[in-house]
Amino acid sequence: MAEVLVLVETQDGELKKATGELLTAARTIGEPSAVVLGPAGTADAIASALAEAGAEKIYVAEGDDVAGYSVAPKAEVLAQLVSEKSPAAVLIASSQDGKEIAGRLALKTGNGLLTDAVDVDADGVATQSIFAGAMTVKSKVKGPVAIITVRPNSIAAQPQAGAGAREDVQVQISDAAKRSAILDRVEESTGSRPELTEANIVVSGGRGVASAENFKVIEDFADSMKAAVGASRAAVDSGFYPHQFQVGQTGKTVSPQLYVACGISGAIQHRAGMQTSKTIVAVNKDPEAPIFELADFGVVGDLFNVVPQATEAVKARK
Ligand code: FAD
Repeated sequence: MAEVLVLVETQDGELKKATGELLTAARTIGEPSAVVLGPAGTADAIASALAEAGAEKIYVAEGDDVAGYSVAPKAEVLAQLVSEKSPAAVLIASSQDGKEIAGRLALKTGNGLLTDAVDVDADGVATQSIFAGAMTVKSKVKGPVAIITVRPNSIAAQPQAGAGAREDVQVQISDAAKRSAILDRVEESTGSRPELTEANIVVSGGRGVASAENFKVIEDFADSMKAAVGASRAAVDSGFYPHQFQVGQTGKTVSPQLYVACGISGAIQHRAGMQTSKTIVAVNKDPEAPIFELADFGVVGDLFNVVPQATEAVKARK
């Protein structure tokens, strides 16, 4: 069975949820092989998690040459692995870096590239959801190696233990790939809240929250459930909440166990980023708001009345 390479993503030394999803997708096409690229020691910390998630092999290229520069060295290592291992496909998370690595890899290896897939089948056919989910497109890369980026939270991870056999990759990174060095890394402060795309619970606020100060109501409710905070584009564009928390077509895709939409109308572009959430709760003062068509539970009411009561009720149950 042909191998399928999966580029591993980590956060704070731990495997990101997206990598488990990619390993599951890889298993539908062939034999999942994880590719770990990072500073020395990265692979040791995540090897057992990768094996549990389904990696049969773990290719490792570590050190400053890989981790000390922007995306170019990573594309070089992957290109080398593609020529040595002839995989059926390479799966990469649809992050900003992931898409740039995938583009460079496609160019280096002369293969086709599909981005933002939401599913991949056994024949390597990728499903893409476009126009905010209004149309579904199925595409297949012509040629030997399909390079596909997959949107996080689109595929449910189904861990199935693999052998996790480690193989160190010897690679000489070219000078050309080392033209943009990383001089400093400053970790974004997210406080104690979970990362938006990794969270089990997301509480989002929309234009109905009405101001940046009022977002404290959303944050308090989120904190009572150890949830992440999200926002609609209208809330972000109005300056109520930072852009990196936008959920939707042009923001992040989330698929938590519970999504609570507060003061959000439910525009198609917002739904595109949250409609696969397991349970959706909406709080909106307009009983005709389209979000109620999607919600499993809805509360018609003023969020400034409803949400603080919900926060107190959650706290009282702890
Ligand atoms: P509104 O549509 O204005 O809704 C506010 C809601 O709050 C209303 O339903 C109102 O009844 C309710 N409300 C008001 N006050 C209260 C209160 N006190 N209590 C309870 N309810 C209250 N949007 C996204 O979210 N994410 C995207 O990624 C995104 N991408 C886009 C891409 C494109 C190309 C385009 C054209 C649009 C995109 N949009 C996106 C914008 C989208 O079309 C909507 O404009 C946006 O989602 C609306 O945000 P909202 O629901 O917060 O605001």
